[in-house]
Amino acid sequence: MNIQADLKSIIRTIPDYPKAGIQFRDITTLLGDARSFRRAVDELVQPFAGQKIDQIAGIEARGFILGGAVAHQLSAGFIPIRKKGKLPHITVSVAYSLEYGLDEIEIHQDAIQPGEKVLLIDDLIATGGTATGAIELLRKLGADVVAACFVIDLPDLGGAQKIRDLGIPVRALVEFSGH
Ligand code: AMP
Repeated sequence: MNIQADLKSIIRTIPDYPKAGIQFRDITTLLGDARSFRRAVDELVQPFAGQKIDQIAGIEARGFILGGAVAHQLSAGFIPIRKKGKLPHITVSVAYSLEYGLDEIEIHQDAIQPGEKVLLIDDLIATGGTATGAIELLRKLGADVVAACFVIDLPDLGGAQKIRDLGIPVRALVEFSGH
């Protein structure tokens, strides 16, 4: 099986979670399979091997698991982007829109040196609200956001295109149609 089909088949889909109409793409089945986890991390890293990447920024919470492994592979640092109220030091925050209402994510104000090359990592991009907010935070701190990387893209929701429109390349390992 090719890598796409392989990874796609090990991601579990939970219909109507957390609410009706959403097909939740559950990567715990991928993470729990040693070979698939390694393969996903290798594939995320591959285009950047040999490039100088200073930091991996991971989005809470599944972006931490993938981002930590990618940071290790690239000998980069790791920066957590968290839900409001979780980071202990001085933070910069941004509000972003969800399907219903607003949410807020934060980063430590001193997490990045201006000009550092940063890869953004999360498990999945849907509408792109979360990733766009994260990019806004990183750019505010002077980061050079080299690319945004995801295991899963839901292209029908347009998020990846939104990121590309900001001038940032997007890498996603598999796609699912619909929500
Ligand atoms: P968005 O801001 O719309 O791009 O949503 C992305 C964030 O919500 C990511 O952190 C995902 O983990 C989570 N998410 C959104 N839709 C799904 C879905 N269908 N299955 C699993 N996670 C999702």
